[in-house]
Amino acid sequence: MSKSRKLNLDDETVKEGAGQATFFRGKKGTTHRICLLDTATTAIMVHYHRGTGQYVRCLNDFDEDGDALGAECPACKNRDMGAPRQKHGLLVCWYETDKRGEPIVSEKARKKGKVNPYEIAVWTFGDDKFCQLRAFKREHGDLRKIDFKVECTDEQFQRLTLIPCKTALWMETKHAKADVSSAYKAEKQARDIERLLAKDYTAEEMVEELALDEEAEDEEDVDMPDLNDEKGESDDDEESEDEGEEEEEEEDEEDDEEDSESDDDDESDGGDEPDDDLDKALAELG
Ligand SMILES: [Zn+2]
Repeated sequence: MSKSRKLNLDDETVKEGAGQATFFRGKKGTTHRICLLDTATTAIMVHYHRGTGQYVRCLNDFDEDGDALGAECPACKNRDMGAPRQKHGLLVCWYETDKRGEPIVSEKARKKGKVNPYEIAVWTFGDDKFCQLRAFKREHGDLRKIDFKVECTDEQFQRLTLIPCKTALWMETKHAKADVSSAYKAEKQARDIERLLAKDYTAEEMVEELALDEEAEDEEDVDMPDLNDEKGESDDDEESEDEGEEEEEEEDEEDDEEDSESDDDDESDGGDEPDDDLDKALAELG
């Protein structure tokens, strides 16, 4: 149950269409440009259901070694579902660029204060990508200070190659910094990333919705998507694509109800670096 809050009628954090999350997805043949704005991911254990192309939240708890505590989860017991895997989500600044990942606003215009268009988007991925990002963090430090060019080699499975840039576009000028940080803060407040990662079924719903009590088919090795958001995942499979979209709408509705839940931005932070401490980062950079 989300807490209520009072909003003055001139509150600028409320945005039209705030219920709709934008998901960052690579498009084959296009180089994108993004900057990670969160310094921590929100992560849960999920199962991928091939039949419907959706991610469902695992109902078991896990210890630090990843061993399941308890046996409540019907998906864990169903051999057709595969083992639960960790899925991460965080907010990124997704710049509007040309196909080579170059900003659409010229450097000259940017220096004069014109902000290159962007969207604050949710990016979801699995542990493999997390490990890559960790390596980049070790090499480059605060990843909010550099952009990544992102090349997509496989759209369906969201195989992405990240190329670190020297700087972050959004930190180039005061205008851009102020613009992106206020958009980020508003999005952070409006968005409950946990709910966007997977469908939250009860055990009964899971069995029913995914028909888990039916005889499991012969096991075959499935190329599992890189735990990226399900939207548009199955371009060649109309049926499951529809399902994905349907699910997203539902989640967006839930999101509206829970708008106020994330007042405390630091909820998911494990580290010593506050997630939303952009002001500090900006101050450091002048
Ligand atoms: Zn499970």
